[in-house]
Amino acid sequence: MTTGSNLVDGQWVPSASGHTFRSVDPAHPTEVLGVFPDSTAQDVAAAVDALEKAAPEWAGTPPERRARILERAADALEARADQLITELIREEGKSRAEATTEVGRTPMNMRFYAAEALRSGGATYPAAGQTMVYTVREPVGIVGAITPWNFPLNIPSRKLGPALAAGNVVLFKPSEVTPLMGQRLVEALIAGGLPPTAIALIQGGGGAGAAVATDDRVTAVTFTGSTDVGAAIHAGVGPQRRVQLEMGGKNPTVVLGDADLDFAATAIVKGAFGLSGQACTGTSRVVVVDEIHDALVEAVVAKASALRLGPGIDDDVTMGPLASAAQLAKYREYVSIGVAEGALRHDVDVPVPESDGYFAAPVVFTDTTPDMRIVREEIFGPVLAFQRARDVDDALRIANDTRFGMSAAVITADLGRAMAFAAASKTGLVKVNQPTTGMAMNAPFGGYKASSTQTFKEQAGSSMMQFYQAEKTIYL
Ligand code: NAD
Repeated sequence: MTTGSNLVDGQWVPSASGHTFRSVDPAHPTEVLGVFPDSTAQDVAAAVDALEKAAPEWAGTPPERRARILERAADALEARADQLITELIREEGKSRAEATTEVGRTPMNMRFYAAEALRSGGATYPAAGQTMVYTVREPVGIVGAITPWNFPLNIPSRKLGPALAAGNVVLFKPSEVTPLMGQRLVEALIAGGLPPTAIALIQGGGGAGAAVATDDRVTAVTFTGSTDVGAAIHAGVGPQRRVQLEMGGKNPTVVLGDADLDFAATAIVKGAFGLSGQACTGTSRVVVVDEIHDALVEAVVAKASALRLGPGIDDDVTMGPLASAAQLAKYREYVSIGVAEGALRHDVDVPVPESDGYFAAPVVFTDTTPDMRIVREEIFGPVLAFQRARDVDDALRIANDTRFGMSAAVITADLGRAMAFAAASKTGLVKVNQPTTGMAMNAPFGGYKASSTQTFKEQAGSSMMQFYQAEKTIYL
């Protein structure tokens, strides 16, 4: 069992409150993986005091050195990959294949941002007479990074990497569901040579997160999590500080009449039940034209029944438990809501382990109406709602009929229709003949509508670095 700590002013310390919380294995919730500080606003204030003092030194560190440190942090993550895969499976509940992908992706992110540290330059402008006008990019100051549990290494690495590459000091508040992964990421950065005063780790829940987001000295807040929490953060940040929010989704896969049903069902099952339905880009709706509706439902239910639900530590498991008791309660609540709303429930024949683990079998609902909560609200579990469409135009209208705008997929053999769908989809990601999930690490990523702030995307080439840098115009 790990005894975790906060990192404040370069020292590993408990919370001043003396309070702690536990991290448990969702496949075996009585197994405690670690005990971590349950931090308060007082801990956050102390961390910000120290970061203010440390900021000038890290901002003045040459970009080459910052890049080297991020590369060495990537090396440190790779050297510990086997341990991290096991810990990620046990702390979050991923399958081995899912954990292996995440642990592989995280150091790649660090290397990507190491290169960005070297790339960021300014511009010169034509000016009158002897004057020279040019721009420089500077760090914004203290970056507060508040992250969820569903990619507890990958998502923070896409925030800490660019923030540090740009010369900012960082206040990192990982999810209380996956504190060990947060600590491991910070350990790798320090092993890579990051001055321990340049980053603060604050463990704890929503109270600690709110203290990070509301401290005016935190000049930029980057958050990934639910839309409700994101909206609360946004309201509290005010106009003087930067904020970047990546939030929830209600992502449709649209299946047109010419689709290969087996192919469509494979993409839907992967998108809906991969990560046990706990991806922001996860498929939670299937919009399908009438003529193939029944056959597609049958194909999806049959394909999903080949999943093997169990502890991710077992190699043949393809679907791990939900991450927490709260996630399991939410899944059960929404299954009940769907039944009470009058949708038709189709159970998938996947044996559920008889244990106290947070295991949840896939559930498919048909006969839904557009106003049902299972159609409108993010569930973030293995619950899939089918919606019937009359034709292509109706399918597109239904797909866009949501307050979210994260990801959407279309399955069709007709490239023209696919392109028309891509053009009309009100989402930040459009996937053609692919699951709604899955993204390239070097391409723009971020949602439309209530899924994201529209000013900065989380990972988007130059705009990704712009969030972490202020631009100054100098007249010489
Ligand atoms: P969450 O919103 O409950 O928590 C996210 C983080 O915010 C945690 O660290 C939490 O402690 C903190 N927090 C909670 N209340 C807070 C408050 N009042 N002020 C400041 N911080 C607070 O989300 P979660 O359950 O950890 O993650 C699941 C959600 O994340 C889903 O909605 C999912 O769609 C979303 N998500 C989005 C993306 C994306 O890229 N858009 C990626 C992954 C997950």
